Amino acid sequence: MYARKALVVLSGGQDSTTCLFWAKKHFQQVSALSFRYGQQHESEVQIAHDICAEANVPFFSLNVPLIGTLGSNSLTDKSIPMDAEKPADGLPNTFVPGRNLFFLSIAAVFARERGIFDIVTGVGQTDFSGYPDCRDTFIHSLNVTLNLAMDETFRIHTPLMWKDKAETWALADELGVFNLVRYRTLTCYRGIVGDGCGECPACKLRREGLEKYLRNRQANPSK
Ligand code: ZN
Repeated sequence: MYARKALVVLSGGQDSTTCLFWAKKHFQQVSALSFRYGQQHESEVQIAHDICAEANVPFFSLNVPLIGTLGSNSLTDKSIPMDAEKPADGLPNTFVPGRNLFFLSIAAVFARERGIFDIVTGVGQTDFSGYPDCRDTFIHSLNVTLNLAMDETFRIHTPLMWKDKAETWALADELGVFNLVRYRTLTCYRGIVGDGCGECPACKLRREGLEKYLRNRQANPSK
């Protein structure tokens, strides 16, 4: 247990929700911050709010629509058909340029105002969609930048950085929130809660991890 306060950047999806409960285990006081950045499924912010209410975690949300419109992407622009998978020549158009850079920078200022210097994010580079701002190098670099920018000692925690989706399900189970994460969170790009549509890139990754985890759990029921 860290004897400190933490702020979780929460989207209402599988990863950040698992991180919320990880933070509750490791920090004395936890609060959560969500962003409305023009995502098509703003209901994820309501989901994040409801999960926090149930978990007794103070919840905040900020409107930052600029982030969704600065760089062209299919998560905020309905007129762009969503890439089903990563194109060979670059990033999928579900990549929102600068999103984690902005989110974490805003979160750091928001946290600092409240005397919080530990920030938790659900990014990871094991089962990721190729987004550069989910990588460990980026997080370390940003952590140094935030410290220099505000002359503080922030710590960005990434409990899922080296976990694949199956291991992320295992962590949710270990934390006693497997069903909550499975049925209440929103990861689907089509906005369907829980197991989602099953077919969009986000659902595919989530479902394959879940199936792998459930197979392992069945094979090792004592775990
Ligand atoms: Zn889906």
